[in-house]
Amino acid sequence: MLRAVIFDLDDTLYEYEELNRIATAKLCAFTCERLRVSEQRFYAAYDWGRRETKRTLGNTGASHNRLLYCQKTLEYLGQRPVGLALEMYETYWGYMLEHMNLRPGAGELLGYCSKRGLKIGICTDLTAHIQHRKLKRLGLSELVSALATSEEAGIEKPGEAIYLLMLGKLHVQPEEAVFVGDSLEKDVLGPERLGIRAVWFQGKNDGVHTTATTLPDVRRVLDEIH
Ligand SMILES: [Mg+2]
Repeated sequence: MLRAVIFDLDDTLYEYEELNRIATAKLCAFTCERLRVSEQRFYAAYDWGRRETKRTLGNTGASHNRLLYCQKTLEYLGQRPVGLALEMYETYWGYMLEHMNLRPGAGELLGYCSKRGLKIGICTDLTAHIQHRKLKRLGLSELVSALATSEEAGIEKPGEAIYLLMLGKLHVQPEEAVFVGDSLEKDVLGPERLGIRAVWFQGKNDGVHTTATTLPDVRRVLDEIH
């Protein structure tokens, strides 16, 4: 029997890519003005900071920590690493959080799950702090039964530990849950390896996986699962 729906957050319940592009441009403009450096120099430093963070932290939630990218950007540029890094971080996330909106149909879909008595889990790569801020900003605090981040699990999706953590928090067996997300590897194949059914949001209609183009389509798929 279906008892829980587990959602990915980024690029599933809200659109990340375009916001990220604009927020990064804001971060660049802010840093260039404060340090009197060119855009080209900023991006050389920032890309290095991002790569270095990912190289040292690998497959963990902390590898996404933009405060580390900002700190390393300053280190690359030969600047003091403390102080401005936090302002850079807030420039980026301030824009993201202010402009973030749920995708069309997300509120209705979560309301449907809730009315049907299904627990709602959020299983997401990234650090807990920022995912908490996003969920609060999106008005989901009251609807989410459980949250599992890759920072907490110690490993990113599709590492088994994050799904097991999520199932444990929801108190459900794999066959009692459905996973919904935009990444084939992280939100479909990873959960399926543990016996969790999955809906590939905006996925390729390959005749193998269950896909849904919009969030109202996800609801129609869930209607068929009992
Ligand atoms: Mg995603």
